Amino acid sequence: MKVGVLALQGAFAAHSSVLEQLGVATTEVRLAEQLADVDALVLPGGESTTISMIAQRTGLWDPLNAFVRSGRPVLGTCAGLILLAAEVLDGRSDQTSLGALDVSVRRNAFGRQLASFEMDVPVVGLDEPFHAVCIRAPAVERLGDGVEVLAEVDGHPALVRQGAMMGAIFHPELADDPRLHELFLAG
Ligand code: GLN
Repeated sequence: MKVGVLALQGAFAAHSSVLEQLGVATTEVRLAEQLADVDALVLPGGESTTISMIAQRTGLWDPLNAFVRSGRPVLGTCAGLILLAAEVLDGRSDQTSLGALDVSVRRNAFGRQLASFEMDVPVVGLDEPFHAVCIRAPAVERLGDGVEVLAEVDGHPALVRQGAMMGAIFHPELADDPRLHELFLAG
């Protein structure tokens, strides 16, 4: 199994190192032909508007759209979750999302950079709580029927799963703890 990490902008390098730590073959994805070569994909945190604009400019948007609808495992964290969401509630007017994960998210719901915070949260499938690092995190404000909540922050969904897709409002790659990536890869 080879896992691709979308490497257009944002926190992709930290995801790659967690995956490498787990002994998983990992590749940075910037081109359609690199995407064609992976079995699972991580969409990192960063700036969702920037990531989507670069993907459109480089011709990666349509292949990404096809990939996230193919049933293959996809993990979207923070901006990556925004990219996966069916609806972005306060996105920029020119912002597009892939729309594969049936949730509505509000960007920067917890405020700007100053409102970033960290807390330990219980996660369905993990024995011990996970350290959730939230940086200008989006909030999940609507859950589609097929969407399961695996963790909450402050009573709001923080980690969700729909089939092989997972979305986190936090940055699991910054927790110095590979368990969330393991959970993702375990399916
Ligand atoms: N709020 C950012 C966005 O709109 C996401 C922040 C993050 O990924 N840390 O893309």
